[in-house]
Amino acid sequence: MKLIPNNIDLSGMDCHIHSTFSPDARACGADEPQQIADAVRAKGLRGFIVTDHLDVGHWDGYIIDFDKYFSAWQRVRDDNLDLTIYIGLEVGYEQKHAGETAKLIKDLPLEYVINSVHYWDHPVPTPAGVPPYLTYLQAIRQSLDADYEFNTVGHIGFLERYVNSPMLYSDYKDILDDIIKTAVARGARIEENTNAALPPHQPREDFLRAYKAAGGTKPVLGSDAHTSDKIGQHFADAAEFLDGIFG
Ligand SMILES: [Zn+2]
Ligand SMILES: [Zn+2]
Repeated sequence: MKLIPNNIDLSGMDCHIHSTFSPDARACGADEPQQIADAVRAKGLRGFIVTDHLDVGHWDGYIIDFDKYFSAWQRVRDDNLDLTIYIGLEVGYEQKHAGETAKLIKDLPLEYVINSVHYWDHPVPTPAGVPPYLTYLQAIRQSLDADYEFNTVGHIGFLERYVNSPMLYSDYKDILDDIIKTAVARGARIEENTNAALPPHQPREDFLRAYKAAGGTKPVLGSDAHTSDKIGQHFADAAEFLDGIFG
């Protein structure tokens, strides 16, 4: 695994795209690799990173056929030399599967890894009516100590998509500051995820201002598209939003 360095310029690119290799995307009508390249070009973007899902222990045991994955995407890269294309994964971190995940990916020719939290244990049940944000954020904090390399911390705040309650920086300051400090120390990037309708932004402005104050750099943009019509969605709004914070 030789990931791209984290000072590489990824502006003008969609850094979070799923294809038919992701089981949830296939179920909702994802496009094949070449169609994704065509859609990226049609959107006026200069490139993209394919980041299909690896969530060990989930999706009924689904694991990507990596030989097919890398050969399919290498072919698309060879056939679309006008685009900058990196081949990555969105790795779902969960503590009980993290060791197995590290073993699975360590010898893959990956160029980019998003470290995301989609599943987590609930050792103490969240009381009824209280959003499960604290356990979710604790899982993100654990994910930053993963025993595998990664470039980017995925969609901080994505749980807001499913919980009808805001996840404000002021309410979770201690754990969010720990996440910020650890991500900056590790040299990890974060992403601004434009999957959901904006606002709220993911992450939110209050979080991003604290992240910047701690030395964090401008997030990369990722649509988290599961179908190619969503590629680059809300990018103009998100770029303006980030410019207002990071300049
Ligand atoms: Zn995700
Ligand atoms: Zn995703």
